[in-house]
Amino acid sequence: MRPELSEYTPIYSGKVRELYEVDDEHLLLVASDRISAYDYILDTPIPDKGRVLTAMSVFFFDALGVPNHLAGPADDPRIPDAVLGRALVTRRLDMVPVECVARGYLTGSGLKEYRANGEVCGVSLPAGLVDGSRIDPPIFTPATKAAVGDHDENVSFERVAEDVGIELATRLRDLTLDVYARGADIARERGIILADTKFEFGRSSDGDLLLADEVLTPDSSRYWDGALYAPGSALPSFDKQIVRDWLTKESGWSTDSGTPPPPLPSDVVDRTRARYIEAYERISGLSFDDWPGGAA
Ligand code: ATP
Ligand code: MG
Repeated sequence: MRPELSEYTPIYSGKVRELYEVDDEHLLLVASDRISAYDYILDTPIPDKGRVLTAMSVFFFDALGVPNHLAGPADDPRIPDAVLGRALVTRRLDMVPVECVARGYLTGSGLKEYRANGEVCGVSLPAGLVDGSRIDPPIFTPATKAAVGDHDENVSFERVAEDVGIELATRLRDLTLDVYARGADIARERGIILADTKFEFGRSSDGDLLLADEVLTPDSSRYWDGALYAPGSALPSFDKQIVRDWLTKESGWSTDSGTPPPPLPSDVVDRTRARYIEAYERISGLSFDDWPGGAA
């Protein structure tokens, strides 16, 4: 008999995920089916998105071979039926307050900074780069977590060193670039570009530094379809393209209207759901049918 979700104390509710306390040492990290676009959480959920992202995280935690916070399998008996497949039992860590971002391609907030001063987070880049240009070697562009509703703030390596010490800052940078490179290699073999990604690390009670949170999911990463890649024009991310295209080209809604986006029609929901599953199956080489929590 699995426990009920109501038996666990909720401790945090993010935009897309919820955290519960399993016991003093463990947390339950639950991914919802909510989706965001243009900084809005949409009213329409994407069925199975939480399961797909959880499956991707587990695939990468396994594939990366870096010490991580997972404390049990995807069908761990401590996971309630109601969230089976989209929840994981993790070790409860003391989180390092740094968003550890690696970029192998220039876009988004990195591009904005580069256009302003030729640097991203204090790393100077060659002149002449455009939206989507490859950054080789990839760079560590940390950020500090913003309060709810605000954007994370890009900061320099020196600032991270001031905050957490040079030794830890150096380890975070090395680990981030190493894990990014491994993730990017795995994706590239499957025709997908990992443009950038964000990791979070935490300390266990015995002082080990572990890779935590979600890893290399479409919510923490920018994935591009390798077949569509062409620097110079912003590429839509692999997973959100259908939703963004519909919102900006067909729904009649505009990003600068100041109003929340309209509900998604069912065919957009269906195609987006299929896209997430395709991303998981392509990158992992596994079948989503085998993932826990599906209809019996
Ligand atoms: P968003 O990611 O939507 O910008 P958020 O980071 O506040 O917002 P979530 O990502 O949903 O929201 O929340 C997950 C929270 O859990 C984060 O604060 C993250 O640092 C924390 N976390 C992840 N893994 C662990 C862990 N093993 N121990 C303790 N906290 C963790
Ligand atoms: Mg987060």
